[in-house]
Amino acid sequence: MSIISAAAAATLLPELQRLRRDLHREPELGLDLPKTQARVAAGLDGLDVEVTYGQSLSSLTVVLRGGKRDPEKPVAVLLRGDMDALPVTEATGFDFASTNGAMHACGHDLHTTGLYGALRLLHDVRDELAGDVIFMFQPGEEGYDGAGHMLREGVLEAAGVPVIAAFGVHVSADQPLGNLYCRPGSYMSAFSIMNITVRGKGGHASRPHTGRDPIQAGAMLVGQLQEYATRRFDAFDPVIITVGQFHAGTAPNVIPDTAELTVGIRCFSQATTARTEAELPNLVSTLVSAHGLEADVDYRSVLPPVINDETETAFYLDTAAEVFGPSRTHLVTVPKPGSEDFSRILQQVPGTYGHLGAALPGTVAEEQDSNHSPRARHTDEGLADHARFLAALAAGRLHQHAAAAPAWPGAGAAVDAGAAAGDGAGARSTDPEAGETETEGNLR
Ligand SMILES: [Zn+2]
Repeated sequence: MSIISAAAAATLLPELQRLRRDLHREPELGLDLPKTQARVAAGLDGLDVEVTYGQSLSSLTVVLRGGKRDPEKPVAVLLRGDMDALPVTEATGFDFASTNGAMHACGHDLHTTGLYGALRLLHDVRDELAGDVIFMFQPGEEGYDGAGHMLREGVLEAAGVPVIAAFGVHVSADQPLGNLYCRPGSYMSAFSIMNITVRGKGGHASRPHTGRDPIQAGAMLVGQLQEYATRRFDAFDPVIITVGQFHAGTAPNVIPDTAELTVGIRCFSQATTARTEAELPNLVSTLVSAHGLEADVDYRSVLPPVINDETETAFYLDTAAEVFGPSRTHLVTVPKPGSEDFSRILQQVPGTYGHLGAALPGTVAEEQDSNHSPRARHTDEGLADHARFLAALAAGRLHQHAAAAPAWPGAGAAVDAGAAAGDGAGARSTDPEAGETETEGNLR
């Protein structure tokens, strides 16, 4: 059983709800969240932690030292919560709704608060922790690559010891409260953007053969990109291509010189992401040149896919089953086609990301407005379990690591080994098939 108690988490709930509602009332956008940062910092007053503030963004990196860390080979676990809001005008009707034109429509107010709650729970048991914990309070998840900024500023080196695992969780306004969803391997998509300028030759619309029509060539690209995706990529490692913008022309009797297309590309593996980057610009250039036009192609990889580590995910699901109950822990069959910059952390450290239902109690979750809607109504009644889950992931994973480490001739070894004997974590994690059978009834 985890050293993180449900009773301690329940006691913390009113304070966490206050914090969540304060954050919700005053959402901030992007990389610069001074009020949010100050609110979290105020909650750290008097705690036995080390805090580093971001340089290029208003992040907080908090390190908690474990009392039972291995003095010879100390390690850390990283927990992450993002803190930024969206440019959405809130229409939830909450009495703590935002009025500043921004909104925590993606539930990052809950992520910040859940991570803070985990910090408090772990702080209470810090003497028992078999390693250090890094708390990553991250701005700028919504398209600002806050995770990339924090990596460059050294979040993984913050404790001065190797990070053995990283965990995070995202709330969903349209999934039932206190239900956890996750899968090993590919979990969320990579995202890339391809900007295309088709260069033709403008002229009179009645004599297209004397010019080179970029609208016709652009329209061909819209279709050919889809054909290429279905014929050249494995249907079970798919590529989702959407031409989101197509601008060209000024009048029905004029062929313009150029057409501009903006294309969003989502993939679910690193290999396919790399292939799209290598092949799609060439496809575009080749196709338009066959018609006597040219194309400028700017291909930008925005985020890699979220790839959950197999072993860490088994541990994550075991811990979820302990905190939320086995019937509320769901091994999902397919990835989610959204993107998330936690993927950058998972490129460097094994770990797992999942989703946690936060639909208002008493509602049909699937009928609720989803994340990013002005009517997304996340409840904060699950915050105690949310915080306990993150805390149990850190405490349990450090404990598991200490139990698995070869004994060293130090005074703490006997204590760690003894404590590990009672640790049930890992019983399922060594047998992924058993895990699948156990949760099969909950697949969505
Ligand atoms: Zn989000």
